[in-house]
Amino acid sequence: MKLLDKILLVSAIILAALVTVLTVFTALALRQFSLYTAERHARSVAETVKVGLTESMINGTIKKRQQFLVRMSGIPGVNEVRVARGPAVVNQFGPGLASEDAVHHDVKEVLATGREVFEVIETNGELVFHAVIPYVASDQGVPNCLQCHIVKAGTVLGTVTVDIPFTEVRNQGIVAVALVSLAVLVAALVALALLRRMMRPLSETARAVQEVTSQAVEGNFAGRVLRRSSDEVGDIAVNINHLMEFLQREVSTIRNRVGELMGFQIKEGGNQLVNTTELVESLVEASQFKQAIEEDQTKAEIYQRLADMLQKKYAVERFSIYEVASSKNRMTAMSIDGDANATCRYCDPQVMVDANFCRARRTGHEVNAFSFPGLCTMFRPGAEGDTHVCLPINQSGSAGAVVQILAAREDGDLASLLVPFVNVYLREAGPVLEAKRLMEHLRENSLRDPMTGLYNRRFLEDYVGALISSSQRRKSPFTVLMLDLDFFKQVNDTHGHEAGDKVIKTLADILVRSVRGSDFAVRYGGEEFLLVLTDTGMEPALKVAEKIRAEVEATKVPLPSGILQKTISIGVAEFPTDADTFWQVVKYADVALYKAKAGGRNRVVRFLPEMWDATGSY
Ligand code: GH3
Ligand code: MG
Ligand code: MG
Repeated sequence: MKLLDKILLVSAIILAALVTVLTVFTALALRQFSLYTAERHARSVAETVKVGLTESMINGTIKKRQQFLVRMSGIPGVNEVRVARGPAVVNQFGPGLASEDAVHHDVKEVLATGREVFEVIETNGELVFHAVIPYVASDQGVPNCLQCHIVKAGTVLGTVTVDIPFTEVRNQGIVAVALVSLAVLVAALVALALLRRMMRPLSETARAVQEVTSQAVEGNFAGRVLRRSSDEVGDIAVNINHLMEFLQREVSTIRNRVGELMGFQIKEGGNQLVNTTELVESLVEASQFKQAIEEDQTKAEIYQRLADMLQKKYAVERFSIYEVASSKNRMTAMSIDGDANATCRYCDPQVMVDANFCRARRTGHEVNAFSFPGLCTMFRPGAEGDTHVCLPINQSGSAGAVVQILAAREDGDLASLLVPFVNVYLREAGPVLEAKRLMEHLRENSLRDPMTGLYNRRFLEDYVGALISSSQRRKSPFTVLMLDLDFFKQVNDTHGHEAGDKVIKTLADILVRSVRGSDFAVRYGGEEFLLVLTDTGMEPALKVAEKIRAEVEATKVPLPSGILQKTISIGVAEFPTDADTFWQVVKYADVALYKAKAGGRNRVVRFLPEMWDATGSY
C-alpha cells in the first residue's frame, strides 16, 4: 500500500471513529437531557396536582376535583393526568372516583413501595413519557398531611400519573444528532481532503525517490525527481537530483576513461556501475598479469599464462595459441586447449607452413566469425556448428601471435562478450612477448656463428650442464663428433679466402641436414666442427659420421676458378662410455680426429682407450 493511501486510511478510520463516538455521545446526551426535562416537567405537573388537590381539600371543593384533573390533562405538553387513591386514604375517606382506583400494576407498585416510576412507553404508535409519582404523607409544613390524614408520616397516600408526549422530543433529538453528525462528518471529510493535499507532495516525492534510486541500483542514473514543494520534501528532491547528476557524470567519466585504457568503448545500457566495476577489475587483473609475465623467463611461460587466463578466468575450453616465427613466416602451436605440446587442431595445417594463410596474422585484425560466419576459410571446426574468433597479438605493427577461441554457434554472442576483455590481456602480452622475442633473438645470435648459422662455442659451454643432466636422467648416451676439413689451408692459398668461406658454409649445410632436431652442430674452430648426437650410441653415430664424410667427399663446390671437392676427417667419442665428463669426451673425439688425420685423412675414427696413454699424450 502506498504511503499516501496508508495515511489517508488511518486518518479516515480515526475520523470515522470520532464521528461515531460524537454521534453516540450526542445522542446519549440528548436522550438524557430529554428524559431529565420530561421528568422535571412530570414532577411539576404532579406537584401542581398535589397543590391543587390540597387546596381543594382545604377549601372543601375536593369533590369537584374531577374537573380540575380534566383541565390539567388539557394543558399543552401533557397527555393525561390521573390520580390514584392509596389504601390509607380509602380506609379513612372511602373509595374515591372510579378513575382513582389503582388499576394499573405500576400504580399499585408505587403505592406499595413509594418509589417513583419514570419510563418511556409506546402507546398507539406514539412515544409517551410515563411518570407515576407517589404522594407521601408528611408532617412538615403548614398545613401538613397529618392534619387531615390519620396516617403515619411517610405513608403513601396516593399517586399522580402524568403522561407526557415524547415522540416529538425524540424526533427533534434525532434531527439534532443527525445535524451534529453531519457537521462532524463534513469537518472530517474536509480534514481528510486537506491532509491528502498536504501529504501528496511527500508521497509522490517518496515514490519518485524510490523509482530513481532503484534505477540507480540498476546502474541507470538518468532518473530525476520533480520538486513538488518548497519545504524539506522539495529539498530532498533537489538533493537526490544533485546526487544523480554527480553519479551520472562521474561514472560516465570513469567508464570512458576505462574504455580508453581498454581500447574499446563500453556500450550504454545495462548496469553501468557493475559494467564499469568489472572493467576496472579486469584492468587491475590485466596489469597484475603484465607484471607476472614480465617476470617470466620464456615466451612459453607467457603462452601458458594466456592459456590459464582463457581456461580459468573465462572458462574457454577450446582455443589455440599460435606463435609466428618472424624470420620464416611459419606458425607454431604454443597451446591447444591448454596443451603446450599439441599441434594445430582447429586450422588448416597450411597456416603452419605459411602464416599468411592465417587471416588474423595477415591483416593484424580480429577475425570474428561469431559476427560473420565463414569469414576464414582456414578454420576447421572441432564439432559441427562450431564458430570462432581469432585475435592477433600485435607486436611492432604485425601479428606476432594469434589466439583462436572456439564456441558453439549458439554461444557465439556470449563468447563475443569475452573478446574485449581477452584483448586487454593480449594488449598487455604483446609488448612483453616482443621484448622476450628480442631477448631470445639477441641471445640466440650471441650463441650462433654468423657465417654458418651454427651454434658457437659459447652455446656449447652454456648447454653442457643441461645436456649432461638430461642424459643422466634418461640414462641415455650421446656421442660427440669432431670434424676437420683436410688440407684446408690449401684452399685459402690456392683459391682465396672467399672460396674457403664458401667451402665452410657448404659443410655447415651438410651438417645441419645430416642431424635430427634434437642434435646440434657447433662451429668449434675455423674449419673445425663439433656434432652432439643425443640419445645415440657409438654404432649409429659412426654411421652418421660416415654418411657425412661420404657426402663431403661427393660434394662439388662451384668456384669461379672451377669445381672444388674436399674431404673431411672425423673423430667420434661417446658419453658416458668413454669418459664421464663432457669436455673429456670432446678431448677424446679430438684424439680420434688426430688419429684420422694421421691415418691418411678422409676417414672416421672411433676413439679407443689405447689412443690415450697415461701421460696424456697421443
Ligand atoms: P689438416 O688436414 O691437417 O687439417 O690441414 P689443414 O690445412 O686443414 O690444417 P688446419 O686445419 O690447421 O688449417 C686451418 C686453416 O683454416 C687455417 C686458416 O687459414 C683456415 N681457416 C680457419 N678459419 C677460416 C675461415 O673462417 N675462413 C677461411 N677461408 N679459412 C679459415
Ligand atoms: Mg683445422
Ligand atoms: Mg684442417
